Amino acid sequence: MSNNLKDGLDRRDFIIASIATVGAPAALAANAGAANAQDAATPSPVSGTAYTGDVIHGKKVISALDINDLEPGRKHLLYFKGVQMPTGQHWYVSVIVAKGARPGKRAVLVSGVHGDEMSSVHTVQTVINQLDPAEMSGTVMAVTDVSGPAMEAMQRRWPNSGRGIDLIDMNRVWPGNENGATATSRHAGLLFNRLLRPNADVAIDFHTGTTGFDVSAFNIASMDVPEIKAMVELYPIGQIFDNHTYPGVLHNAFIDAGIPSFCPEIGAARVLDLEMISLFVEGTMNVLKHHGILAGPMGRTSKDVGVFVGNSAVPILATEGGFVEQLVKLNDKVEPGQKVAIQRNSFGEVVAEYTSSVAGQVAGLRSDVTSEPGIPLAFILYHKAAPDGAESYPE
Ligand SMILES: [Zn+2]
Repeated sequence: MSNNLKDGLDRRDFIIASIATVGAPAALAANAGAANAQDAATPSPVSGTAYTGDVIHGKKVISALDINDLEPGRKHLLYFKGVQMPTGQHWYVSVIVAKGARPGKRAVLVSGVHGDEMSSVHTVQTVINQLDPAEMSGTVMAVTDVSGPAMEAMQRRWPNSGRGIDLIDMNRVWPGNENGATATSRHAGLLFNRLLRPNADVAIDFHTGTTGFDVSAFNIASMDVPEIKAMVELYPIGQIFDNHTYPGVLHNAFIDAGIPSFCPEIGAARVLDLEMISLFVEGTMNVLKHHGILAGPMGRTSKDVGVFVGNSAVPILATEGGFVEQLVKLNDKVEPGQKVAIQRNSFGEVVAEYTSSVAGQVAGLRSDVTSEPGIPLAFILYHKAAPDGAESYPE
């Protein structure tokens, strides 16, 4: 881990501590505790590739991978054997390794940590399809469907069968725990210890908005870490959310393991936004060139799109139940006091008007028309003079 990366982590630890002191939700505090407990229990990285002997749909099944064991100059399609289901079968995760003819850096691309985020999957698939291992120096490993049960249901969270179905947000459990209390945590632990961490020099965890809440195109990144900043600035994307977000998210687990990482957000959930996807593909190909895995000229970058960098995302929360009419669009600039939404009851009477408290850009908007009190109607990305980490977009 470089000093710069370590410095960034130290600062983030401070921010996490300050979140806890300003009254974080109980779940956040609990996650932080679980992550700390896991630190002590984390086994040393698993070395070597373990084939189970099974073949599914023509793909060999692995329970651990060292990409050094794979033949160079070609793509390898594998299934990683994840946690068991209640019936005793396993959740298998699709793994594509494009191993270059020559040695070099190892990039890991992840999608499907949330099950309703389809543009993230398509972005990773498109990058992999553009790669020719014969021309590469290094390796790109893609893992496209991390949270299988959530994806089967086209929903954000993993249905855990502890006491009836609990829905668990898998992007709050990393780095997981192979002996954890939930299948979700165990699945994350298996993936992180035996597949992701041992094969990554850099890692990108792709996301989108969630069902009912659309977002613009942006990258969540710790811009105080130079290795991460250098990568994020290679995306021709209009917004950067410079924030350490939460413990338990996958890109922070990579950073904690000394692996530079960040989190692209690619528009709306459930759909493919092909235009937006092409921008994230272009940026990711730039990152692979930056690391020498691919040759060739850079594509467009953040310099070409006039990127807006904010370090906070203030949520505008519904104060009433009712029907919401948004008055702004994603990427719109807003000023303090500007009205962004109005809400009506079933009689059509206006029950609330919502304004922005800050000057910034709209980065997220509720897409479901109805809302209960307490639900975020919008996120405004803005620059806070003294960020305290308390206002964060729930990626
Ligand atoms: Zn997500």
